[in-house]
Amino acid sequence: MSPVIGILALQGGVREHERSLDKLGVTHRQVRRPNQLLGLDGIILPGGESTTISRLLELGGVLEPLRAALAKGLPAYGTCAGMILLANQVRDTRADAHQLNALDITVRRNAFGRQIDSFEADLDFVGIDAPVPAVFIRAPWVEQVGEGVEVLAVVQEGPAAGAVVAVRAGNVLASSFHPEVTGDTRLHELFMEIVRAS
Ligand code: GLN
Repeated sequence: MSPVIGILALQGGVREHERSLDKLGVTHRQVRRPNQLLGLDGIILPGGESTTISRLLELGGVLEPLRAALAKGLPAYGTCAGMILLANQVRDTRADAHQLNALDITVRRNAFGRQIDSFEADLDFVGIDAPVPAVFIRAPWVEQVGEGVEVLAVVQEGPAAGAVVAVRAGNVLASSFHPEVTGDTRLHELFMEIVRAS
């Protein structure tokens, strides 16, 4: 049977991920309530505002079931705010923001600062041949990675050179940037490989 991917649709860039999965012919559905987690083969956590998504996860009762599903190995891909939510630890967030604790990384929110608030860069990416065009929008970066977390991409040039912006640990993939807005589907393809292998 072909896999079904949930897209967390509480806030943020849901439509863009739907378009990317449509391009790949992957079945998807929006997730707003706990019962919509049932039967999924993977879940995408979109960009948006992580503290808002965190609050809505709690209010809608999705936080604990999603955390539990991830702990059981549900494959996940988080972009930007989604990366923040998946992380074990977040710097520069609200004290009451929740984490899904699915990735042993420490992330800093809005890490690139006001001067380079939003930018684009071509990135070398482990496992992908040609450079990946990356759009960063008030993006986080990864400050620490735990054991078993693979760094897949770093910023190569400019003031933020060296910043870690894509990681994978087991079934969980995360990027600071938004491949879903460039029309490049290779990260979604990578995620689907993870889903199919799991
Ligand atoms: N700055 C946002 C946050 O902290 C993330 C931005 C994004 O997802 N594009 O959640």
